[in-house]
Amino acid sequence: MRARRICSWCLAEGRTIDEATLGWAETSDGSPTHGMCQEHFAKMLAEVEGSQTACEHEWMLQERVYSVGSVGFQIWVCKLCGAEKYEELFR
Ligand SMILES: [Zn+2]
Ligand SMILES: [Zn+2]
Repeated sequence: MRARRICSWCLAEGRTIDEATLGWAETSDGSPTHGMCQEHFAKMLAEVEGSQTACEHEWMLQERVYSVGSVGFQIWVCKLCGAEKYEELFR
């Protein structure tokens, strides 16, 4: 079924579902899939580069897997300071 691919960061910022829609995809049940728009992807990269702290990060895997274009990645969050990093899964 045709399903929206939405940027959950856009939604979290209170944008409308239409503004958060990146495109369309096919899913078996029509439920939306998640991605990340270029804007939020750029922001995340900037934050990752700028987050040099004294914290000895304890990374905890977040379940969600995101894709930007054909690149898939998963996000890790530090239990101690909340910093995020991402890991590419496939390209
Ligand atoms: Zn976004
Ligand atoms: Zn940390």
